[in-house]
Amino acid sequence: MAGATNYRTHRPTGGAAVGAHLVDTLKVAAEKEKVDLRLWNEVKEIVLDKEGNVSGVKVTNKEGKEYTINTKAVIIAAGGFSANQEMVVSYKEDLKGFATTNHNGATGDGIVLGKGIGADLVDMEEIQTHPTVVPEKAVMVTEAVRGNGAILINKDAKRFTNELFTRDVVSKAILEQKDGIAYLFFDEGLRKSLKATEEYFNMGLVTEADSVEELAEKLSIDKNTMVETINKYNKAALDKKDSEFNREDLPRQLNEGKVYAIPVTPAVHHTMGGLKININAEVLNKDAKVIPGLFAAGEVTGGVHGGNRLGGNALADIVTFGRTAGKNAAAFIK
Ligand SMILES: Cc1cc2nc3c(=O)[nH]c(=O)nc-3n(C[C@H](O)[C@H](O)[C@H](O)COP(=O)(O)OP(=O)(O)OC[C@H]3O[C@@H](n4cnc5c(N)ncnc54)[C@H](O)[C@@H]3O)c2cc1C
Repeated sequence: MAGATNYRTHRPTGGAAVGAHLVDTLKVAAEKEKVDLRLWNEVKEIVLDKEGNVSGVKVTNKEGKEYTINTKAVIIAAGGFSANQEMVVSYKEDLKGFATTNHNGATGDGIVLGKGIGADLVDMEEIQTHPTVVPEKAVMVTEAVRGNGAILINKDAKRFTNELFTRDVVSKAILEQKDGIAYLFFDEGLRKSLKATEEYFNMGLVTEADSVEELAEKLSIDKNTMVETINKYNKAALDKKDSEFNREDLPRQLNEGKVYAIPVTPAVHHTMGGLKININAEVLNKDAKVIPGLFAAGEVTGGVHGGNRLGGNALADIVTFGRTAGKNAAAFIK
């Protein structure tokens, strides 16, 4: 994965998308434990008692009716704020007008709710763009496509960066190209190596061709330059030496069967800032003191990833701190 010096990522067998896989597993576990899941219920407020301990949450149900859940401990796991343009721009103005890869629920509610009862925030201006998102459609093409060997070419049919630099660097490089767009280029061999790519074919996002020349024609870019670019890259992959951009990980030549291209541009992807927690997933106030009974885990928290989250690390974050928060909240109640 981009920015990594070693192979560290664990994926479902065959390269299926990992998020859905994780949710399926957790759903089965939740049902087995008879967890009271209340979908489409919205937390509006975290309630404190006179001593400043958490005592419950105010919620609206599907019909908009408000009710209160009384509890001694609350875990905020309401995600980041990538889908809240206003909040994104308030912390990072140059992201005005950017699309997002996130679901509509990434509103930053959890951060606002926590802040409302005195939680400290950290790294709020650290907002990440993902470099390979399909323009207008806002569909993110997983980094694993580059990780498995895809390259980026611009409208002049040339490579312009080491594709496996960190997301901030690759995003910036794409925005510097003509129209702020690049093409992810790969072949049949790569498609077979990564099941997750099928989704992009099913969604009609991929331009396909039987040869590099034909693909260049379909993309209206220079045929000869494109052939030269791909040949040069294949030679680099064969020699395991990319003298042009010093890409170290060159897993395959791109010369097997059909060839493919997907247009990409950066979009808001991950908000590294959020509620300040300690290693017990307890939320801290501005005096670095624990707010009794308040826990948080996942993208709603800040300070876990520094200024640049690496691919795969968000799921490591939610699983690790989710588990820590769950155990500690249960112990706190007892
Ligand atoms: C397209 C895409 C692909 C990704 N791929 C990877 C990957 O391969 N590997 C990786 O490590 N990371 C990946 N990530 C990042 C990772 O998926 C997220 O960081 C992670 O899912 C965040 O989990 P979370 O539980 O903290 O928040 P979320 O999954 O965002 O869940 C928060 C939930 O809280 C709900 N909520 C919000 N406000 C309220 C409220 N007031 N009341 C009630 N509910 C509320 C939201 O609707 C949502 O359901 C990807 C992200 C995207 C967008």
